[in-house]
Amino acid sequence: MRRLLGPARMHIASLGVNKVGFLLSLVLGGLLLLLIPAFQPTARQLDLPQPRPQIKTSSSTSLSDSAGDTERPTGLNISSQGLNATIETEPFDDDHYKESEKELSTHEGQGHILPGPGPRDLLELKDIFIAVKTTRKYHKSRLELLIQTWISRAKEQTYLFSDGEDKELKMRTGANIINTNCSAAHTRQALCCKMSVEYDKFIESQKKWFCHVDDDNYVILPSLLQLLSSYHHSQDVYLGRPSLDHPIEAAERVKSNGMVSVKFWFATGGAGFCISRGLALKMSPWASLGNFISTAEKIRLPDDCTIGYIIEALLEVALIHTPLFHSHLENLQKLPTDTVLDQVTLSYGGYENRRNVVSILGGFSLVEDPTRFKTVHCLLYPDTDWCPKTKPHNGN
Ligand code: UDP
Ligand code: MN
Repeated sequence: MRRLLGPARMHIASLGVNKVGFLLSLVLGGLLLLLIPAFQPTARQLDLPQPRPQIKTSSSTSLSDSAGDTERPTGLNISSQGLNATIETEPFDDDHYKESEKELSTHEGQGHILPGPGPRDLLELKDIFIAVKTTRKYHKSRLELLIQTWISRAKEQTYLFSDGEDKELKMRTGANIINTNCSAAHTRQALCCKMSVEYDKFIESQKKWFCHVDDDNYVILPSLLQLLSSYHHSQDVYLGRPSLDHPIEAAERVKSNGMVSVKFWFATGGAGFCISRGLALKMSPWASLGNFISTAEKIRLPDDCTIGYIIEALLEVALIHTPLFHSHLENLQKLPTDTVLDQVTLSYGGYENRRNVVSILGGFSLVEDPTRFKTVHCLLYPDTDWCPKTKPHNGN
């Protein structure tokens, strides 16, 4: 029995040790398993932060930007994550933005946001989308001069929005002429139709700034670049010159068939204006894919007023008044000669039955260059092959 018990006891004792070892290895094994992520309980996974949507290339920005924005007016579901994703797609320099914001608020205290020394957007000409509004009958008399002058220095990003085909001009000059298929009439509807196409093309373009001018404007590209570099394209920026010295008052049609009065500033289209991409994206519910035309109908005002209405009245972003944009509604002769090349836009036209042009002397007489655009161009770019190489012309 003892003998029997001895080994039996030993057996039992060894069994006891094995059991403890076995239990210990079970516990250790369990602990090890817990450390392997794949075996962690699924409930814990729900508490972890979720990966953010993968969107970071600038070429995918337009898709998410425009998709997000076009969905809003139609009331389609867009999750807050989707909206965040849209905002995050803009290439963004956080420190830079904070700096720009600081600069902006400094100027805001002075009434207007003025450009000044400070952080820059490191903007290049290729970042600016320039839309020129034109019409078939002005292709020869107005467009050719622009294509020959300033557009030749910004060919890739300048788009001419017209109302008819002109394959010959396109072929000969290589200009980006877009047939909007809008009516060629000088009506509110036709002009708003063109602006609507301009807006959609800009959104599609991925560029940082949208600038609109008429076909009787000269754009001084270095000044434009300098002005826009004072701001950041992700801020809400609407730059231009009002033609009135007070805000316009319009009757806004409201849903219940009623009218309410609304007052806002707008930048006159004839002098040109610019809008940052950040602000343009916010305009989308009222401006994209034909919405611009129905928005214009609500106030029954032309294209440039409608832009002001969307930005100032609906989005509550103030126009930054700048004296650097010029239309022929003002007396252009009054512009001091030594400041002409520092302006952002110039124009020409009739003024009190007299020729209304900037006073500048250069290689062309008034007869040779009645708009003064060629003269301005040759002062800015004297290396141009058709610019006179002789000394400046001294008068008529
Ligand atoms: N315009 C247009 N359709 C027309 C007439 C004019 O799109 O039937 C454009 C024109 O090309 C220009 C802008 O509207 O860019 C303003 O036209 P214009 O300079 O003749 O008039 P104003 O400056 O006196 O308003
Ligand atoms: Mn004009």
